[in-house]
Amino acid sequence: MNAPPMLRRPIMGGAFGQAGFELATQPTITNGLHAVRFMVIHLTAGQIVSIAEDKREALAAARDLLKATAPAQQPEPNWRQSDLWPGIQLVPSTPQTPVSRRRREVFERSGGVCFYCRCRLSIHAFEVEHQRPRALGGDDSPINLVARCSPCNSAKRDRTAIEFMAGQTSGRQSFRQA
Ligand SMILES: [Zn+2]
Repeated sequence: MNAPPMLRRPIMGGAFGQAGFELATQPTITNGLHAVRFMVIHLTAGQIVSIAEDKREALAAARDLLKATAPAQQPEPNWRQSDLWPGIQLVPSTPQTPVSRRRREVFERSGGVCFYCRCRLSIHAFEVEHQRPRALGGDDSPINLVARCSPCNSAKRDRTAIEFMAGQTSGRQSFRQA
């Protein structure tokens, strides 16, 4: 199955500066309907900063995240996936068995859903995902760590988040075919 191309164009000005970011427009199929997904991509980091079904939402979420992670002002940035998906219900972490602080933070930032397909996750079962794999230079910074489900885990393999998203046209079903 050939994925429709992910169109990318530079974003400039304001929080985005002169050359560091692109807006990607990706055709998708959601519940059998054609739809479009917008992603803001940080080029030098090779990471997806925000994903939304509305262009303005994607840009606004990316601006908020960039402000929140500006190095000097906030040494411990704490961005949440609820900023990326307005209206999403945050799942409070109330684990029955001990969960590491890092896992809890990643889970809470993700709003308790998979970063890639938005399926609901359990705090005991999700994977902490490096958007950019360690093998490709990814680190443990908050922007690089997201929560994901195991179907997305096995479908993504060692691709970067951007490569992975570029190869997806619909939801969980195409992940299973991958
Ligand atoms: Zn998933």
